Amino acid sequence: MEMKELGEFGLIDLIGRDTVCDASSVALGIGDDAAAYRPTAGMLELVSTDMLVEGVHFDLSFTNAFQLGYKSLAVNFSDIAAMGGAPKQAVVSIAIPGRMEPAFVVELYRGMKKIARDFRVNIVGGDTVSSPGGLVINAAVIGEVSPDRLVKRSGASVGDLVAVTGSLGNSAAGLCCLQQGKQAFDFAEDLVREHLTPLPQVAIAPVIAKYASSMNDISDGLASETNEIAKASQVGIRIWAEQIPLSPSLKKAAAVFQQSALDFALYGGEDYQLVFTIAQEKYGQLRAALPALTVIGEVTRGANAVELVHGDARIVKLEARGYNHFR
Ligand code: ADP
Ligand code: MG
Repeated sequence: MEMKELGEFGLIDLIGRDTVCDASSVALGIGDDAAAYRPTAGMLELVSTDMLVEGVHFDLSFTNAFQLGYKSLAVNFSDIAAMGGAPKQAVVSIAIPGRMEPAFVVELYRGMKKIARDFRVNIVGGDTVSSPGGLVINAAVIGEVSPDRLVKRSGASVGDLVAVTGSLGNSAAGLCCLQQGKQAFDFAEDLVREHLTPLPQVAIAPVIAKYASSMNDISDGLASETNEIAKASQVGIRIWAEQIPLSPSLKKAAAVFQQSALDFALYGGEDYQLVFTIAQEKYGQLRAALPALTVIGEVTRGANAVELVHGDARIVKLEARGYNHFR
């Protein structure tokens, strides 16, 4: 079937089913001029939106529709997690090229509904239009956070530790595997999975938020994210290069591609892990609650700058060169 046979309303009927998994917070979902939901009393509402454009953020020869749908909500959930909050409601707008099969869009929504269900998020509305160019997906997510758990970028203090969740650089190395057609290598499967269907750190973010002084999700690479924290907090940050967690798969891929594994972690982006600062005396308690954390540095007096300390004690300024649109 083609888009023009089904039409906008036929398509909305198809994708608008099974979109509510926490009915208690939804007064009105898909099907009216606006959705209505119940915020939880005493919580701060968080809202964040991210747009994915074919040819800029994704390549349909690398991702399937399910993976793309999954990722388009994952990146938004990650932004909510980075504030210490939990995602609750989502609205999704899509611009669809006329050539696209309705089945592709249904599959895209199957991916969105999967991750939405995993984190008990309702898809409560959106907009559907045709695109004269590529596919565009814009999701907006509403989340909530207890006021005492809201973690900003600006709260880092001199003497705090800098720590991260998970390991870094896998997603960028996964993209490299796809681009270079190196998917046959045994290391590629994990890396490609982390690139196409990243797991946002929604489950542990509220625990970290109880102790952290500042936090960011790692969407643009560690270099860029730590620079944002340094700038917002008016502090310096020193990162110990050898402490940055790199997976065995990343190290193998970097060797095959003859590139630096560390550079994937610093500049690659799209890991959707969390980087945060925390007072030294609180770290022990957090670490007892969440073992899979790594301390990678410290907050220093120098304003607005991030330094990278190599194993041989060489110190270089770490520039924020992640992906930057229009440059
Ligand atoms: P309106 O004309 O009032 O903007 P629409 O006809 O665009 O309403 O949409 C009808 C209903 O379907 C609305 O509840 C809207 O939120 C929902 N909807 C439209 N497109 C999408 C989409 N891509 N994903 C989820 N919900 C959608
Ligand atoms: Mg509309």
